[in-house]
Amino acid sequence: MKELLKEILDKCYKYTDEGAVANYIPELAKANRKEFGICVITDANSVFAVGDHDKCFTMQSAIKPIILLLALMDNGEEKVRSLVGTESTGKPFDAFNYSDQALKNEHINPMINTGAIALCSLIKGKDYEEKFRRLLNLARKMADNPNLEVDENVYLSEKLTGNKNRALAYMLKAYGMLEDNVEDVIDCYFKACSIKARSTDLAKIAFVLANHGTNPLTGEEICSRDYAKYINAVLMTCGMYDGSGEFAVNVGIPAKSGVGGGIMGVVPNRMGIGIYSPALDRKGNSIAGIKALEMLSKKLDLSIF
Ligand code: GLN
Repeated sequence: MKELLKEILDKCYKYTDEGAVANYIPELAKANRKEFGICVITDANSVFAVGDHDKCFTMQSAIKPIILLLALMDNGEEKVRSLVGTESTGKPFDAFNYSDQALKNEHINPMINTGAIALCSLIKGKDYEEKFRRLLNLARKMADNPNLEVDENVYLSEKLTGNKNRALAYMLKAYGMLEDNVEDVIDCYFKACSIKARSTDLAKIAFVLANHGTNPLTGEEICSRDYAKYINAVLMTCGMYDGSGEFAVNVGIPAKSGVGGGIMGVVPNRMGIGIYSPALDRKGNSIAGIKALEMLSKKLDLSIF
């Protein structure tokens, strides 16, 4: 496996020159586009890592599956679905313009910013400090890494300049979908996006989901099988944003990307994958990361279809 990963890393390295690192906030524009790491976990004793697998990056949207998981664990499926739906487009089959529709749960999903921001408000805790701490602890447990922390510079950069996300949160409030104070909720979302991880951490988190909620590395049951399946299904249809259809055809596994350059890939019952390469395509997905996943999927026949 390690040889195969090395070969994939070598063959895909040229793609690190394509696209651009995220620049919607100043701090992310500092990323080194040449960094490229892959980690694959197939069982407790088989962790294979190559390249810059130990380099830290911020999880960004790769935290969204964990926000969804905690919202499910704290509230159950019905409540979660009543606020944030599961459809990738949220548009009726004959829609050509839905901009004048009121915002409803069925228009958003947990893997877009609006959905994830709404779900932050469902996390239990006496205040947003406690809610965020519980989210960080769940991420640490899934990654089996007590050292996961917030990157303060990225967090402050998001907080100062992430006005589009702030606008999305105010839109939720305007449509009666957010009970709490907008600034508290958005602060929790900004911190969540700013959690630092390595490809190895993403691979471990993905491995827990691949094993339907149990961490085979520690034997601990983190969540129910049903919730893990819920998350994997949503990752399959919405995890790569508006690139999810293309990704389903070319790679065929549940996955989640983040604009920090990370991608976690879940191969149910088989493997957890974590990749890092910060240069992104126009949809916000790592270009070299997707190429590497395509190659890995073809070589090992990973597509669930
Ligand atoms: N922090 C990012 C944003 O809010 C998360 C989105 C992403 O990773 N695509 O824009």
